[in-house]
Amino acid sequence: MSNQEPHPALLIPGPIEFDDAVLNSMSHYSESHVGAPFVKTFSEALKMLRQLFQTSDPSSQPFVISGSGTLGWDQVAANLAEPGDEALVLHTGYFADSFADCFETYGVKATQLKAPIGDRPQLDEVEAALKEKTYKIITVTHALSELVHRVSPETLVVVDGVCSVGSEEIRFDDWGLDVVLTASQKGVGCPAGLSIVMASGRAMERFKARKTRPTSYFASWRNWLPSTFPHLLSVPGLPAFQQQICKSWENGARLTTPPVMQNYEANKPSYFATPSPQLIHALHTSLSQILSRPLDQRFADHRAASKKVKQTVADLGLKQLATKPENQANGMTAIYLPEGLTPPEILPNLLKRGIAAKYIRFGHMGVSVVDPKRDDIDRACAALKEGLSDVGYKKAE
Ligand SMILES: *Cc1c(COP(=O)(O)O)cnc(C)c1O
Repeated sequence: MSNQEPHPALLIPGPIEFDDAVLNSMSHYSESHVGAPFVKTFSEALKMLRQLFQTSDPSSQPFVISGSGTLGWDQVAANLAEPGDEALVLHTGYFADSFADCFETYGVKATQLKAPIGDRPQLDEVEAALKEKTYKIITVTHALSELVHRVSPETLVVVDGVCSVGSEEIRFDDWGLDVVLTASQKGVGCPAGLSIVMASGRAMERFKARKTRPTSYFASWRNWLPSTFPHLLSVPGLPAFQQQICKSWENGARLTTPPVMQNYEANKPSYFATPSPQLIHALHTSLSQILSRPLDQRFADHRAASKKVKQTVADLGLKQLATKPENQANGMTAIYLPEGLTPPEILPNLLKRGIAAKYIRFGHMGVSVVDPKRDDIDRACAALKEGLSDVGYKKAE
């Protein structure tokens, strides 16, 4: 299966299995983060991200910043909304509460639109909510952009793609998305440690039109982009102490901060907060592999693997959290355990068969799915069947 030390195939919704080449590219000798060879690698990785997100619009802006997927939420909340703004958070899974909490941390009012577990808010509910007030931002995990653009054109469409980028198609330009965020350890197939964000030209305009400074330091796009928004530096009408802060900011180092992300992409050295060269190498390798085949084929492989797992689950008489096919992801399957059985009874049984699953959330993404030399998915399906039968489970007739 690989040259890695024998281990249970990790089939959780991230981190996922690594390809040998991705892992090997991490054992790169130490190099300067402003030296030409590393800058070239970073530049190519940023350009490849544009391809993965299917954006050719030069005004869209990729960000790759050390951190996990969660840092993408901080970037959205701190840069694209100002304290007092409204955000509409659609409940489409486990992470919506936390995204809402993140907005509140930055003083942004988050309204959650909830749905029963495994389901999602219906289009007419979303439309009604959007008509009720003007939201600066809507967050979704499935793209709903057509509706949002029609009903509330000023609202930025933010897709939490942490679980879908790399396993589901994302057509950033065609779907009119404003931000898609993900993390290196999910469908992209790298070690954890990188927050990956694509922002549209429209989102960048919103950012530049802020009246207040971004409410984060590390996550502030001012630090990762050119510092050429002078209106941000002295805002008429601000209280004196805030003017003072702006003034010191204006005279301080930030003004000379180079446009880090744009420089990297343009193959020029730049610095704000040291990147991880090893992780950027891994990302470069993984993106090169992903883009070496047509993306359509990759997504078709994920649909086929997903179908196989979901069929096995159905054959066993188990239920998925998401009952409707349109709510089901191609990168993972969330399964209710049979009545009376709990994860501690099942999981050791799966582990014995070389499969590590978290509860019964099966992740099926990346090399486990697209590498024909691996049989991770077949083994997982078999382990699920045998593991259940070992603990006496029988399908109810
Ligand atoms: C995993 C995940 C996150 C959190 O990402 P971290 O890398 O753990 O910070 C957020 N949203 C979704 C949809 C995810 O799947």
